[in-house]
Amino acid sequence: MGMTENQNAPDISVIIPVYNEEGNLDALRAELWPVLEGLGESFEVLFVDDGSTDGSPVILRRFAEEDPRIRVIRFARNFGQQMANTAGLRHARGCAVIIMDADLQTPAEHIPELLAKLREGYDIVYGRRERTHDPLYRRWGSRAAGFLINKTTGFRIPDSASGFVALDERLVKTVNRYNDRSRYLSGLFAWLS
Ligand code: UDP
Ligand code: MG
Repeated sequence: MGMTENQNAPDISVIIPVYNEEGNLDALRAELWPVLEGLGESFEVLFVDDGSTDGSPVILRRFAEEDPRIRVIRFARNFGQQMANTAGLRHARGCAVIIMDADLQTPAEHIPELLAKLREGYDIVYGRRERTHDPLYRRWGSRAAGFLINKTTGFRIPDSASGFVALDERLVKTVNRYNDRSRYLSGLFAWLS
């Protein structure tokens, strides 16, 4: 580990945008913690409260009091998921960054696969929903960036339904140099990676 300005930087940052998720946060933490602990690496979890009007802020404050690895950013009003993720990326200190949803739709059990793929040397790895014959049954698999090509733009833009992604800190630093007020993060990731 380098002796840089980030001496206390964790190995992994997990960014979770939150908008009125009071019914999901305890279950999310219960699902996520064993996975993160199981990695045997240091981590931080950044919840970005995107102006929730329900009990989410109270739950997140309790989380942060209970575990110093939990950090909370709170917006004064709702700015949207993209802005929440943008704020998360600016505050994330990890060498690898995971972005996932708060509503249990991006299964934490697949985080190790995303990280393993990232560490093969990719800047970004997308978790992709694999559709099966049964619409109620969703499977997830990790896909390295580059498998999908958007023919319209010429950039590789993944299934926009996926809020599940792993980024290397190099790409995070590059993304953080862009200050656009309206953000289409998936496109920015694809363009920069
Ligand atoms: N979210 C947010 N701000 C919003 C809307 C959603 O931070 O204005 C969060 C939400 O709490 C969830 C994630 O973004 O953690 C994905 O949102 P949602 O489940 O509504 O989207 P979808 O399931 O359609 O991808
Ligand atoms: Mg959802």
